[in-house]
Amino acid sequence: MGALENTLRYFKAASKVMDLGDRIERFLTTPRREVSVEVTVEMDDGRLETFVGFRVQHNAARGPMKGGLRYHHQVDLDEVRSLASLMTWKTAVVDLPFGGAKGGIACRADALSEREAERMTRKFVDGIHDVIGPHKDIPAPDVGTGAQTMAWVMDQYSKYHGFSPAVVTGKPVDLHGSLGREAATGRGVLFATEETLKAYGKGKTVADCTFAVQGFGNVGSWAARLIHEKGGTVLAVTDVKGGIRNPKGLSVPDVVAWVHRTGTVVGYPEAGPCTNDELLATKCDVLVPAALDGVLHKGNAKDVRAKFIVEGANGPTSWEADEILQKKGVVVVPDIYANAGGVTVSYFEWVQNLQVDSWTEEAVNERLHRKMVQAFGKMRSIADTRKVPLRTAAFVLAIGRVASATSKLGIS
Ligand code: NAD
Repeated sequence: MGALENTLRYFKAASKVMDLGDRIERFLTTPRREVSVEVTVEMDDGRLETFVGFRVQHNAARGPMKGGLRYHHQVDLDEVRSLASLMTWKTAVVDLPFGGAKGGIACRADALSEREAERMTRKFVDGIHDVIGPHKDIPAPDVGTGAQTMAWVMDQYSKYHGFSPAVVTGKPVDLHGSLGREAATGRGVLFATEETLKAYGKGKTVADCTFAVQGFGNVGSWAARLIHEKGGTVLAVTDVKGGIRNPKGLSVPDVVAWVHRTGTVVGYPEAGPCTNDELLATKCDVLVPAALDGVLHKGNAKDVRAKFIVEGANGPTSWEADEILQKKGVVVVPDIYANAGGVTVSYFEWVQNLQVDSWTEEAVNERLHRKMVQAFGKMRSIADTRKVPLRTAAFVLAIGRVASATSKLGIS
């Protein structure tokens, strides 16, 4: 099942509970605009290479569209459509005045030199600058992109439209970025875990729990670091090259320093090796998939031995896996809530840019905490009253908000 069909299944499970009706359902499942551009780049050795870039704008009923920009060889239209719709539901779950969008370029990001990545990014912005903007659609970092990429997007866009830092979020802090943005998705994962344990953890806190984290990029490494700071025991982490585990717990700051030196968790001396399959089957309290989508599927869901799954990544759990996990009694905290910390602080960055202001990191983190606590409360209350899993509850909350805005604006 493709990523888009998977997301649609989750949408439909919620729309059925809500009795949404065909008319609005059709509108909410159809993207508003899809742009596909050829990005021809001169490589460092003089060759011309052509990449394909996408921007899918899913829904703008609640505000300008918002969503990341992914550089990865598996990027295709199906995946970007799925991720764009997840952004609509995510911004609504945490009640941000945004709609949803997503973009990506199919490329081997780690094989590009910095100059090649810059030329590719600027060319892509040349192709989409008239459909993005501070009040239209605001990109942000995702897999394979980061603060530097966002700086190039801002600069290239500003060449067409004048100085516009609010066109993109996740920028470097000294170039109109926000304090706290880099860690925000991982911090949101921590807050989501804390709320989940308060609700379902039978008195356990993060400090009493063991964790396994798949992916050690922006989301996974920050989630692991902050969990470790709170006293949680991180047993295993993996990245694209492999993984490591230590039954006594990893010293996460040391692993981060190792990754800075070597580019991978593999080979970290104070741990044994761990494959991605082994990581997903680790006996632990909380599993945090924070790499790519579809990693938990019908073939491996039965092997999961965690009590909780907190979805740092977008779309890590297939529909079939979700059903298996539900039957096993695993509490799955859905991506559209669990990783919403990133877009929430992106919203704060956008507000600061529009107000030409900058907030302290404490203010950013405190507001993020408030948003994550509020959204969890709403999601849980729907789960309890309608007797549905947290994922369905999150979709019910989000679809309700977007449907209400849509019907007040009018569909046609
Ligand atoms: P990133 O590029 O910084 O890191 C990705 C990590 O996943 C890397 O450690 C990489 O080695 C690892 N990885 C890649 N393929 C893998 C594989 N097959 N098996 C195991 N590990 C693999 O990306 P990121 O920004 O941390 O994003 C990770 C996930 O979180 C994505 O699903 C993304 O959409 C989602 N997300 C990111 C943000 C954000 O603010 N960056 C916000 C919300 C959601």
